[in-house]
Amino acid sequence: MTRDWNRRTQLVHEGSRRSQYGEMAEAIFLTQGFAYDSAEQAEARFLQAGADEFIYARYGNPTTRMFEERIAAIEGTEDAFATASGMAAVNGALMSMLRAGDHVVSSRALFGSCLYILEEVLERFGVRVSFVDGTDLDQWRAAVVPGTKAVFFESISNPALEVIDIASVSDIAHAAGALVVVDNVFATPIFSRAVDQGADVVVYSTTKHIDGQGRALGGVICGTVPFIRKVVEPYMKHTGGSMSPFTAWIMLNGMVTLDLRCRAMAGSAAKIATVLAGDSRLSRVIFPGLPSHPQHALALRQMGSGGTLLAFDIPGGKEAAFRFLNALKIIRISNNLGDARTIATHPATTTHQRLAEDRKARLGITPGLVRLSVGLEDTDDLIADLDRALDVI
Ligand SMILES: *Cc1c(COP(=O)(O)O)cnc(C)c1O
Repeated sequence: MTRDWNRRTQLVHEGSRRSQYGEMAEAIFLTQGFAYDSAEQAEARFLQAGADEFIYARYGNPTTRMFEERIAAIEGTEDAFATASGMAAVNGALMSMLRAGDHVVSSRALFGSCLYILEEVLERFGVRVSFVDGTDLDQWRAAVVPGTKAVFFESISNPALEVIDIASVSDIAHAAGALVVVDNVFATPIFSRAVDQGADVVVYSTTKHIDGQGRALGGVICGTVPFIRKVVEPYMKHTGGSMSPFTAWIMLNGMVTLDLRCRAMAGSAAKIATVLAGDSRLSRVIFPGLPSHPQHALALRQMGSGGTLLAFDIPGGKEAAFRFLNALKIIRISNNLGDARTIATHPATTTHQRLAEDRKARLGITPGLVRLSVGLEDTDDLIADLDRALDVI
């Protein structure tokens, strides 16, 4: 371990394992399994695999292991388990530790698939889930009771970009003996190390900023060695949600530029948010980096940045929002985020289409709301594209 390296160095080098050829770029070990020198060696490895010993790619693989070590170093956790997608990570982190009769408290403002796991899957297996407004600490205090097994929340909610106070919620949870599981996708490991603020388990969809180029689905669960190896690993390796070595190689390469990309994107997002905030054609601009954001101070304390996403409301509802989206020339209409390409999303008709109207309203998903994931294009070109499209409506 080389944890005394600074983060930019870790992003480039941490976890690298070289074969006898001394290759510069990490090798992709595209193999389902590994052969043993003897029957005795096979037996010994099944009993207890060493740090550099592998059995079957569903259990672990050298390329995947390199990625796990790199992300664990960046997140500041002892260990990590790489998964096939962000949802495999959320599902794995929760399902591996919960059993029938357990109680979980979760923030209400969640990515649609996270909501499905908490509301449908866990409930079906007898886990009771209480939902709270994640920004209201009194609601957490009231819902978390002695015996609550875990709390779950997205540190910045999708798409309304509410910031949840990781340290305060962790204090409330820990006082009751509950484990804190944070989906930290919007904050990125660059702007917020959730474990430093009290989280026990941090999950990422690596599909987002960590790949950052829209190439592959992936996820990761970060936590202590006992949690990752004794709780998560048995569940993941036996249920089949492991990351493929090829995906791990993509993610390793994504991490090399992660810091540079996140900072460039956040700089652009701040500039765009400031310009849009002064634009009378919009009724509301949501960006944690703007002083007008309700959790602005918390965002700066927790992330030191406003992040790479913003949202705004177009007066005139769905019809005007569609006219705006259809007039964009550089910015693409899609639903990924954290990508090098700037992406505009209309949550009410896409990612959150299936929510009932009253729930959309409660989560701030108005008919005119557009979410913008700012990419790596020239900021002035993006501002010009937004300006032109706003003129069309
Ligand atoms: C995208 C996303 C996920 C799911 O990740 P996938 O890689 O698409 O499975 C989970 N949580 C949040 C906050 C996300 O944005």
